[in-house]
Amino acid sequence: MNKAVLFSDFTIITSNDDGNVSVLEHGYCVVSEDKICYVGTSSEDASKVASEISDEQNDVYEGKNKILCPTFANAHAHMPMSIFRNIADDFALNDWLFGEIIPREDKMIEEDFRFGHLLSIAEMIESGTACAANMYDGAKITTKASVEAGFRVQQTIMGKKCVDGKWSTDAKDVEDFNAFCRDLNSDLITRSLLVHSVYLYPEHLYPSLAELAKAYDLPVSVHISETLTELKNCMDQYGCSPVEKLNSANLLSDTTVAAHCVHLSDADRAILSEKGVWIAHNPSSNMKLASGFADTQAMEKMNMRLCLGTDGAASNNNQDMFMEMRLAAFMAKGSTLDPTVLPASRVFHMATRNGYLACGFSDCGIIETGMKADIQIIDYDCPQMWPLGNPISALVYSCGPKCVESVMINGKFVLYKHELTTLDKEKIFASTKKTMERLK
Ligand SMILES: [Zn+2]
Repeated sequence: MNKAVLFSDFTIITSNDDGNVSVLEHGYCVVSEDKICYVGTSSEDASKVASEISDEQNDVYEGKNKILCPTFANAHAHMPMSIFRNIADDFALNDWLFGEIIPREDKMIEEDFRFGHLLSIAEMIESGTACAANMYDGAKITTKASVEAGFRVQQTIMGKKCVDGKWSTDAKDVEDFNAFCRDLNSDLITRSLLVHSVYLYPEHLYPSLAELAKAYDLPVSVHISETLTELKNCMDQYGCSPVEKLNSANLLSDTTVAAHCVHLSDADRAILSEKGVWIAHNPSSNMKLASGFADTQAMEKMNMRLCLGTDGAASNNNQDMFMEMRLAAFMAKGSTLDPTVLPASRVFHMATRNGYLACGFSDCGIIETGMKADIQIIDYDCPQMWPLGNPISALVYSCGPKCVESVMINGKFVLYKHELTTLDKEKIFASTKKTMERLK
């Protein structure tokens, strides 16, 4: 028989669909199977709900000096790239990508994709992330690994392939991956179509990519205006910006996730706002690769839909959403000389509810009855978080991965009191070390 988990006497913080973040002191939460069944302040009501689920003794998780809040959804990552962590740093993006990364990627074997992906999952879970958009090749290997680890992923399908030196799109690839996902029969997976960027995807593919996205109801995942070089080359080649180019090709919609968006004009922002495109803001990666500062203040003024991403661990060099929240807030304030831009609650909402929506999981990211149970427990009984003060400020400005005590995804603990329950970390470390030595 199914047992419930009763979270007892926590500070519960949640994003809400109106964009606000609320705090419930002395809160109780009950989870059964994959869903949240109760949230409130009544110990009696919570116990009653739990006992109605099972006659057996239910599991009780005590909440003294602990926060219960939604897990993070990382809206832009290249997960297997964790195998390239710390091997090619302090390069400009073009030199880094074409000179250092792609030649190594060409030598990757199946095991590298699998264990690099699992390494990222381990890192993400331990830092409170339960969901990520994985823009990378090896979709079947990584999707299977995600499901085995109990981790939510929006997986991109490669939108193009090369035969005899000619690039084309192929609906069969999409159908094949769709069938593979159907067989896996997991609600941890959503899909998207990769249109990497205007600089890696040739113009002649755009009409068929737009058709594929429409025919198979796939969101488009794309990098937009990450660097001034990308913008300049696009202007030289097409006489318009990457946003304008993709928009004219019908590749932008309210399910599109556009990473970076560092160099936008007012006209670009108007298009992205009007189309309802999700903007995956990547502050760490943009600063480390010296791509620039995305103008989130201008985006907010245009009511653009913002979420957060870490980018790959090769260009960050970690996948810590606490750091992205802090940097997003600090970058916005420091670059505009306005400390009111991107307040803590806004950044928390971007990292949680908005990230889940961007990744296609509409029933996650809010601690509310009926929502999927994607939950993290933060222990604030530590010098870094003490005294707690405003708990939302504490999460965004003080907290870090070591305060993450437990993570539940889809109603299952994948981290329980600092122990990963679905992953063999020693095996992942051994395999990825071997890979790094082979590819360095
Ligand atoms: Zn990227």
